[in-house]
Parts: sequence; structure tokens; C-alpha cells
Amino acid sequence: MSLIDSHAHLTFDVLASDLAGVLARAAEAQVAHIVTIGTGLEDSQRAVELAAAHADVSAVAGIHPHEAAEVTRQHLDGLRNLLDSPHVVGMGEMGLDYHYGFSDRLSQRRVFEAQLDIASSRQLPLVVHCRDAVRDTVSILSAAGFDRRPVVFHCFTGTREEAEVIDDHGWRISFTGIVTFKNAAALQDIARTYPADQLMIETDCPYLSPVPVRSAKANEPAHLVHTARFLADLRDEAFDTLAAKTAANTRRFFALA
Ligand SMILES: [Zn+2]
Repeated sequence: MSLIDSHAHLTFDVLASDLAGVLARAAEAQVAHIVTIGTGLEDSQRAVELAAAHADVSAVAGIHPHEAAEVTRQHLDGLRNLLDSPHVVGMGEMGLDYHYGFSDRLSQRRVFEAQLDIASSRQLPLVVHCRDAVRDTVSILSAAGFDRRPVVFHCFTGTREEAEVIDDHGWRISFTGIVTFKNAAALQDIARTYPADQLMIETDCPYLSPVPVRSAKANEPAHLVHTARFLADLRDEAFDTLAAKTAANTRRFFALA
């Protein structure tokens, strides 16, 4: 039995400052592989370095919508170069966040479309961040030709209708520790019947510590086991079955060795 954390931010200070401990606790908790996700050019460069140094870590490189207002042509060129690294298994996280609005919407759409333009000629799967922006995210992805290509809407917290729209385009959603929260009944309903051959799980650490470690000051990959156990109970599956399926789905999605 082993788990894969499909979305972590190992480069963020609170985790990077104790990386050896974080990786040791992950291994102890049967988390066999971690996909660390870039949020900007420099952060993506750090993610690639980290993956190069650790066989059980892979990197995804991209620019988060929060950063979009600052992005220049040089950033996009740098990102394009970074994608040639053998340690990069996907592009992201990219997308739209209308909830926080740290960058204006026009910049967000510009940077999302620019990254899709880079992605269109490559075979890399996409990790999409989408908050209160499903309609625009779906229409931009679809217009850019990504229907039926490997795309995950990570940390999904939308409605069943939105999950169905995403499914209609041949894309998938993935689940964080949010699904373990008491007030997450609607999301639990979606997770209960989500197709077993698509299901992927993630910590999104250092954010979103799951129940029962919700008060932990930083989430980390070792905590993935709590989300996996919760989902196994919710779906009335054996823990080992759920672990094996989600790991296999994640390996296939990112074409991990
Ligand atoms: Zn993230």
C-alpha cells in the first residue's frame, strides 16, 4: 500500500525549512511520491531543483493566477525553458481565481491563455486552480483546444453541476482535506460517487490540514493518510483499495515512472 500526494508546495518556507523531516514523515506515512507544484517562475525553478534532488518528488511548473498581474514576457520564456527539464511532469498551477482577486481578471486571463498557448504544443497534463470562476476557466480551456486532454481542477470545492461540466469536457477534479471538514456535505456527496478510475487526492500543503489534524500549523504530505482514510470510509471501500486506485490514477495522469 502506498499513497501519492498529487499536489503539494514543498518549496514554501514552512515545509522547505524542514524538508528532510517532511519527507521522512511522508515515507513513514506510506506516501511514496509527492508532486510539488510551482506557483510562479522562481517557485517553479525551486520545485524542479527539489525534484532533481529527490527521487520521490516530481515537479509541476507554472504561474498561479494570484501572480498574474506581475507576469512579463520574460517570465513566460523562463517557464517555457523550464518545461524541458525531465523532472517536470505537468504544467500549473494555472487558472483563474475570482474569489481573492489578488490579480485583476484581465491579467489572470492573459496569463492563463499564454500558458495554454505554451502547453498546446506539449504533452504535459495541466493542473488548474479555479476559484469562483468555473465558467470562464472552462470556456478558456475549451477554446484553447484542451477538451479530452489531461486536465485536473485541483482542490475542487464547486457544485455537482460544475463537476459534471468538467467531466463533460473529459477533465477531472481532485480532493484535498476540505472533504473531511464537517461543513463539506455537498463536496462529500460528489466524492462519494466520483468515478474510481479518475479519483486523485492531494494535501495542497502547507494549506488545508485535514480532520483530525486540522489545527496543525502546517499541513504536510504525511497527513494525506487522513484524507485517504476518510474517503475510503465515505465510499465504503477498503483503505488499501482506495490508496492503490488513487496512486495508480495519479501515476497515469502525470505519467510517473
Ligand atoms: Zn496549490
